[in-house]
Amino acid sequence: MAGIYLHIPFCKKACYYCDFYFTTSLRLKGDFITAIRKEINTRQNYLSNEQVDTIYFGGGTPSRLDFDDIERLLDTIHDSFNVSTSVEITLEANPDDLTKLKISEFKRAGINRLSIGVQSFYDEILKWMNRTHTAQEIFTSISESQQAGISNITIDLIYGIPGLSDEMWQMSIERFLGLSVSHLSAYSLTVERKTPLHKLIASGKYVAVSNDASAKHFEILMQLMQQAGWQHYEISNFAREDATISKHNSAYWNATNYLGLGPSAHSYNSYQRRWNNTPLQRYIDKIMSNEVYYEEETLNKIDKYNERVLTGLRTMWGIHESDLGELSNYFRENVETYLNQNMVAYSGGRYVLTQSGKLYADRIASDLFYV
Ligand code: SF4
Repeated sequence: MAGIYLHIPFCKKACYYCDFYFTTSLRLKGDFITAIRKEINTRQNYLSNEQVDTIYFGGGTPSRLDFDDIERLLDTIHDSFNVSTSVEITLEANPDDLTKLKISEFKRAGINRLSIGVQSFYDEILKWMNRTHTAQEIFTSISESQQAGISNITIDLIYGIPGLSDEMWQMSIERFLGLSVSHLSAYSLTVERKTPLHKLIASGKYVAVSNDASAKHFEILMQLMQQAGWQHYEISNFAREDATISKHNSAYWNATNYLGLGPSAHSYNSYQRRWNNTPLQRYIDKIMSNEVYYEEETLNKIDKYNERVLTGLRTMWGIHESDLGELSNYFRENVETYLNQNMVAYSGGRYVLTQSGKLYADRIASDLFYV
């Protein structure tokens, strides 16, 4: 199994908290499509003819693309890779882009899963984030996608936001559960350097995000989703049933090989990581003039161990001791504290975070790193 990720770097405007690579101009869209198709062609051996089970249009805002763009990109991928007949093809979309026409065109182009960037059901919070959509557009876009026959839908929500009370967050989850959507990604707001949010907080115009509020929201989230019978299969991801666990997301956590295309996209092929250059103009120029447009690093056994700890611990499958190679003894000695504190559970050779351990997932992983 392998995956393909395409980074589509176009957005209508900048959300204040965002640190992904994007541009708000469509001026280079045509050149970008030409360049990324060339990248697809030149990297057709990267996955060693492994079967591709997931293709993911992320960004940026891939719903800024048109039917022709998506169709041409998918045709090029099908011509260059061994794509499974049951491939999951996800497109990230913002609610305000999802008109009836666009939804039917995306479906016709081959998209069979939509990841809708909802973020919040409250207009005042959407405005605080500088998002382009309204709460009403969320409900309309989801119901029209479902009516068009796209049943595999995931949405993103963000918590730990100043102004989002515990009651409002609880109501958000209840609203989500009423939508008949099959997957949820829920993230705690993080203030990244160089974002407008960071500057707004530094200048005193916005208040800082509280860690305690965020932890409380995460507890509310875990509790309500568990009561509703959902699978908490990764720290930030919930699936209604086995069949709706995201193939794309799982590929990252299960050390599956994936090819990343487009500016800033990352690739992994078991022994190397590669990341493409930004900004967009540089990425295009280098691809078109056959220059090196990426940086890469070869992973040693310590990198692989640390990565396994970081990603494995975040999932409900945890880490099997046989995955840790020569460093399994180091892991066993260091995880003892967390086993005693009931933050990590051990069974059948596998270590998994408990409910209380999930609240400290990053800290536990970092304590178990080999440095
Ligand atoms: S739409 Fe997504 S990628 Fe674009 S600015 Fe907002 S959060 Fe960032």
